[in-house]
Amino acid sequence: MPGLPRTGVTVIDHPLVTHKMTLMRDRRTSTNQFRQLVRETATLLCYEVTRDLELEDVEIETPMAPMKARALAGKKLVFAPILRAGMGLLEGMLDLVPSARVAHIGLYRDPGTLGAVEYYYKTPADVAGRLVIVVDPMLATGNTAVAAVDRLKEQGARDIRFVCLVASPQGLETFRAHHPDVGVWTAAVDEGLNDHGYIIPGLGDAGDRMYGTR
Ligand code: URA
Repeated sequence: MPGLPRTGVTVIDHPLVTHKMTLMRDRRTSTNQFRQLVRETATLLCYEVTRDLELEDVEIETPMAPMKARALAGKKLVFAPILRAGMGLLEGMLDLVPSARVAHIGLYRDPGTLGAVEYYYKTPADVAGRLVIVVDPMLATGNTAVAAVDRLKEQGARDIRFVCLVASPQGLETFRAHHPDVGVWTAAVDEGLNDHGYIIPGLGDAGDRMYGTR
């Protein structure tokens, strides 16, 4: 319903998304192909997460006649990638909504505790009045996503959504327990986590696969 936060978990099972996910999961996929697939999939996920944006009537003239048409109304968008892997998704989302603002949230996982450590945070000043779409390819333990949304809420943001490629059941549970008002859109929910907090079967380290690091 327009105007109300969308909550719950939406698994996007569009055939194109599922096919691209299979290519991304395949260890033989090159860095270049992986990055391109992340971008393309992000565009498809963006289409789904913005499905209920409000529209308003506008008067325009086509080359043939005046008409009453429909255009986006309501809150403006902010995409909030969690650095660094979220940057890959950002590109595909901006392809679809080039006028969106961008908030950069620098958080890394402490490899020992798996807790989130902040190293950079910069958002548009008016983030509180915007719809904020937080993006990170992997919702693994959920700690990073929880910390990112905590930070945005501290700044007054209230209308927040979270988009990822793969979620673990544990990550979803943790995230939903902390932020039940924030809807999650994901292309897949996998089996679980290994001892290092990686999603199984997952797709490996999304940042490394995107940027060719290790
Ligand atoms: N981050 C990743 O890139 N991959 C995982 O499986 C978990 C966290």
